[in-house]
Amino acid sequence: MTDAAKEAPDTTGVAVSSSVLYAEACRLMPGGVNSPVRAYRAVGGIPLFLVRGAGATVWDADGGEYLDYVGSWGPLIAGHAHPAVVRGIVETAAAGSSFGAPTPLEVEMARTVTASVPSIEMLRMVSSGTEAAMSALRLARAATGRRDLLKFDGCYHGHADSLLVKAGSGMMTLAHVPGSRGAAGVPSSAGVPDEIAALTRVLPYNDAEAVRAAFQDRRQEIAAVIVEPVAGNMGVVPPAPGFLETLRDLCSAAGALLIFDEVITGFRVGRGGAQARYGVRPDLTCLGKVIGGGLPVGVYGGRRDVMQVVAPLGPAYQAGTLSGNPVAMRAGLETLRLLDDAAYQRLDELGAALADGLATVARRAGVDIVVNRVGSMLTPFFTGTPVVDAASAQRADVDRYARFFHGLLDRGVMVPPSQFEAWFVSLAHTAEDVRRTVDAARAALAA
Ligand SMILES: *Cc1c(COP(=O)(O)O)cnc(C)c1O
Repeated sequence: MTDAAKEAPDTTGVAVSSSVLYAEACRLMPGGVNSPVRAYRAVGGIPLFLVRGAGATVWDADGGEYLDYVGSWGPLIAGHAHPAVVRGIVETAAAGSSFGAPTPLEVEMARTVTASVPSIEMLRMVSSGTEAAMSALRLARAATGRRDLLKFDGCYHGHADSLLVKAGSGMMTLAHVPGSRGAAGVPSSAGVPDEIAALTRVLPYNDAEAVRAAFQDRRQEIAAVIVEPVAGNMGVVPPAPGFLETLRDLCSAAGALLIFDEVITGFRVGRGGAQARYGVRPDLTCLGKVIGGGLPVGVYGGRRDVMQVVAPLGPAYQAGTLSGNPVAMRAGLETLRLLDDAAYQRLDELGAALADGLATVARRAGVDIVVNRVGSMLTPFFTGTPVVDAASAQRADVDRYARFFHGLLDRGVMVPPSQFEAWFVSLAHTAEDVRRTVDAARAALAA
């Protein structure tokens, strides 16, 4: 724990408990939340309302203190309220928080991203991962003059209509909650017209042969293949050897664009993202989460000839009032500044220690667990068989995960309230934090 995290939480102004807040929230917002996975539907109980974070620790409205592996679902690679990030935010906001005109910080961010991710020759800043993926898809259709999209079961690319077909994250989580819409096996969200969903073809993750067959079918119609190069939204699932290379070859041969959705993996699994780690160059890349340093940011970018199709240079329209917002740019830049080789090595070591620790205590307890990990993102699946796609992920025992989740929470460790999400280690976590977590897991599995 950092020194900041050892200080007592500032509870000034906190007058009500999570349960009181939740009751009021449920009257005011659907499910009491502003994003479905926060609602604890898959694990039961009442979501904790958080009032403060510092380093690897968060505090709730009830005075509880937790070691945090949610990390705002991916952005907080530097931990909560990192002093350099906070200082940057305050300084920049004090000089004006938004102009609706170009600012130097956008140029610095674009320079930083293109230097770190060589496939991104040109980019457009947006305000969320959803917006990045939605815009990348529109651009791919505009640049190719085609309509069809291939995606993979269990991958999540935000909530645009075309991408909410057999999506991961909250849609996959809710599919296991009795009484939820997803439980009926509905493959896409209500409100997505069948005509739109029909343009999205869904294939099993890591199934190169299925992709080959799809290209044989409709070679001339496929505008793009979109993939999480390391899946994070069905829980962590690494790409099988050769899978990403096959996508690259098939897209190149057919004139389709390969889109890597690196909203989680960008600057997370390495400075150059999954594309550098696995050595496969996409045509377009989506970024988000880490590059915003905890503020709302997304990016899509890639080949210069393709990006030149975006307005005002080209006919694919896309715009945003707060795009490239200076405060968000500064939070992202301060975060990216911390991510050198030593940082990634540290994240990898902590991730490995946590994954190995979880696997060991599970084995000793006689509980079947498969821990998938790439760098500092990992998921322990309650299953005895390898998890390589959505079908194998769904074999995991979600009730066992729910008990484990509450067992950890009772012991001061907060992990995602769903079996099908990634746990994130940050630079603020220590080896001692990981040991404490593994101890808590041992006790939770024994209870
Ligand atoms: C989180 C996520 C998104 C959506 O980003 P938002 O900022 O939540 O809109 C898109 N793609 C992937 C891979 C994600 O993990």
